[in-house]
Amino acid sequence: MPDTGLTGPELLAYDRAHLWHPYTSATKPLPCYPVARADGVYLELTDGRRLIDGMSSWWSAIHGYNHPVLNAALTEQLGQVAHVMFGGITHRPAVELARLLLELAPEGLEHLFFCDSGSVAVEVALKMALQYWHGRGQGEKQRFVTIRNGYHGDTWHAMSVSDPDTGMHSLFAGTLPRQLFLPAPRSGFHHPFDDRELDPVEELLAAEHHRIAAFILEPIVQGAGGMRFYHPHYLRRVRELCSRHQILLIADEIATGFGRTGKLFACEHAGITPDILCLGKALTGGYLTLAATLCSREVAEGVSTGSPGLFMHGPTFMANPLACATALASTRLLLATPWHERIAAIEQTLTTRLAPLKGDDAVADVRVLGGIGVVEMREPVEMATIQNRLVAEGVWLRPFGRLIYTMPPYCIAPEELDRLCSGIVNVVSRT
Ligand SMILES: *Cc1c(COP(=O)(O)O)cnc(C)c1O
Repeated sequence: MPDTGLTGPELLAYDRAHLWHPYTSATKPLPCYPVARADGVYLELTDGRRLIDGMSSWWSAIHGYNHPVLNAALTEQLGQVAHVMFGGITHRPAVELARLLLELAPEGLEHLFFCDSGSVAVEVALKMALQYWHGRGQGEKQRFVTIRNGYHGDTWHAMSVSDPDTGMHSLFAGTLPRQLFLPAPRSGFHHPFDDRELDPVEELLAAEHHRIAAFILEPIVQGAGGMRFYHPHYLRRVRELCSRHQILLIADEIATGFGRTGKLFACEHAGITPDILCLGKALTGGYLTLAATLCSREVAEGVSTGSPGLFMHGPTFMANPLACATALASTRLLLATPWHERIAAIEQTLTTRLAPLKGDDAVADVRVLGGIGVVEMREPVEMATIQNRLVAEGVWLRPFGRLIYTMPPYCIAPEELDRLCSGIVNVVSRT
């Protein structure tokens, strides 16, 4: 008998019984919503309901779904070569994309390594930093410093520099590499800067610089570790202190890159260039997994000095042509659209529509930066319940902890954004 596939209910039942979803139990999974197709800012469920996507599939689908320009780029590349090894071989999509990224990224980044995901881009960045000091004959510089409330991914070293409380440190205590943690920056993006918060940074870097390889942080916006927006001056001073103490600065722009915060890259808010920069998420417009680690000439030369003199990393699917061609089309599309005005308009609407929630007893804070809106509750939200109510409002969000937050596709129309905000306001004000 030909296999005609599973019916809708069978599909969901099999999923529940066998498939792991992000951060879920295999035995008591949360409900899942089956998506049949997606177009523009809408996700269409198999039962025909259409939801406005307020998550951009975790920061990535900045142009919305089923975009003709990205579809065309991907299809055209498919007819040329879907994948080929990158060892000893190169191709136009990789070279053109690298050239564009290096041109757009903060001044001074000249070399680029293609990775398969954001977490790997972070591993590659950390490895680059270690190999740099090895090449420079200072192999004792092996520790990493970071700030609390960070999130850098789920692989081993990425976990080790993510927040020790909300991250997975207690679970893997004893086996995770131990890093140095500074308090999270306190002065908010829109607030006056309190100079005293730099004291612990200065102290730690001055005392430990001889064993610190790099300082890693998410510039301006701390994403999955708490959705916090901090003051550009903090980043500026960290840059200065790192230079003074011979510590490399790694900026993880995997979430913030490609316009989300109102600048093409969040580092621009502080006018700084990191030594190493990680990009991912929105890089392919949410189509395929691809990330990149960029670095300065100085770092690249250090890594390439001495023995082995090679950067020791090389994934099987490095610089996948489909992903590179789509990323090139997505980045060009971004530059060809009035993204700056669109983000400013989204910021304006999120600010006016969500601000009234500040008066709600259940709400601790409301904050907006660029295309990111955050409602922080006083108590943790019950994800399954609140998600269900949001879906009933016709919007797709994925709250976590005490946070209900949105970062919609840039192409969202004013009336769609209005409905998204109404959904949030209705659900929050009835919590
Ligand atoms: C999502 C994210 C990562 C991890 O990226 P993956 O592609 O999920 O591995 C790393 N750093 C930051 C800041 C992120 O937002």
